Amino acid sequence: MSPSQIEIDTSRRFAELRRGVRGLCARFPGEYWRRLDGEREYPTEFVEAMTDAGFLGALIPEKYGGGGASVAEASVILEEVNRSGGNAGVCHAQMYVMGALVRHGSADQKERWLPALAEGKLRLQAFGVTEPTAGSDTTRIQTRAERDGDAYVITGQKIWTSRAEYSDLMLLLARTTPLEAVKRRTDGLSLFLVDLREADERALTIRPLETMINHHTTEIFFDGLRVPAENRIGEEGMGFRYILDGMNAERILIAAESIGDGGWFIERSVAYANERVVFDRPIGQNQGVQFPIAQAYANLRAADLMRWQAAELFDSGSPCGAEANMAKMLAADAAWEAANVCLQTHGGFGFAREHDVERKFREAKLYQIAPVSNNLVLSYLAQHVLGLPRSY
Ligand SMILES: Cc1cc2nc3c(=O)[nH]c(=O)nc-3n(C[C@H](O)[C@H](O)[C@H](O)COP(=O)(O)OP(=O)(O)OC[C@H]3O[C@@H](n4cnc5c(N)ncnc54)[C@H](O)[C@@H]3O)c2cc1C
Repeated sequence: MSPSQIEIDTSRRFAELRRGVRGLCARFPGEYWRRLDGEREYPTEFVEAMTDAGFLGALIPEKYGGGGASVAEASVILEEVNRSGGNAGVCHAQMYVMGALVRHGSADQKERWLPALAEGKLRLQAFGVTEPTAGSDTTRIQTRAERDGDAYVITGQKIWTSRAEYSDLMLLLARTTPLEAVKRRTDGLSLFLVDLREADERALTIRPLETMINHHTTEIFFDGLRVPAENRIGEEGMGFRYILDGMNAERILIAAESIGDGGWFIERSVAYANERVVFDRPIGQNQGVQFPIAQAYANLRAADLMRWQAAELFDSGSPCGAEANMAKMLAADAAWEAANVCLQTHGGFGFAREHDVERKFREAKLYQIAPVSNNLVLSYLAQHVLGLPRSY
């Protein structure tokens, strides 16, 4: 069997969609991603090609010019990008924040933004939630939005706001009622669509952060930025709930990216283990080399089953918090196992940039930590699924 025939999802669902994304990704091979990684550049041509093909607008309803796709279909798109050796992290936000606008935006907001996003005239690639002091404890964010006439005035700081320099719009979570004045910690947070093109540069500073992967992430300082009140999504104070609502989709999409990474690592491991001859035989003939690859493959397939279960529940409108969280955690862990096995299988050559293994290894690690760390997934399962005491 040739390595390119290694299927993770043997049901062959969405075969045509997979072929379409694979065809597009073939135009952006390893050299392309390697060069961008070295130069820390944004893959503008790739993002434009994904937009023109309609893939990035997949979750926008058809009446606004989008693909009207299910989360299962959207997940296949991101999976195939990572499976091809690329990195869907450069553009995935447009998919996973879309739910906030589609489900909670007003008719006017949808008319204003969704067709332009679908056409590629606008990019919504930035999502500002995390802050330096609050970390995973989102309800403790300190960025404030204070109402002043027909606008909100934003003051505070975000960190790890990825792609802010390459996005026209940013979805921003800020406190509209102080923590001390709310009944529940999750109350009093509001969601805004900030038009970065119109932002007064004296009130908004974006500073790139250097990281171990090419993720175009930034820290953002708000110093009295005025955002029109009409850019608030949904009701004031309900932002946390709107974000939670979209998180299951986000978890499933991230799980699919990890499944794609895992598939790429296994494919590369098998190819190299078959081809590299040491002691007069392919290294893959040694059980010490083949068993870890086989184990990683089995774990990846198991994680993928959870991803499909979560996607099916989500798309049928059923509760899927446990499954979406488990899918994200299991897939991120399986991808990381496969990454480690792939690097090990390549021996010293795994460190050579030309094989792309070291780049994908760095990129795959992210999903055990962001957008939510696996520990927080375990806390969720312990408390909300198993009924154990809240641990934080
Ligand atoms: C490259 C990159 C891109 C990112 N992009 C974005 C973005 O676009 N927008 C955005 O808003 N955020 C973004 N993030 C932030 C990301 O979501 C956070 O890093 C992540 O949620 C973890 O938060 P933290 O880094 O503050 O870790 P912390 O909350 O400080 O946690 C540190 C460690 O402690 C553990 N921990 C914390 N509390 C507990 C607990 N109660 N029980 C057990 N373990 C615990 C965590 O698991 C973690 O391992 C990005 C991060 C990175 C690295």
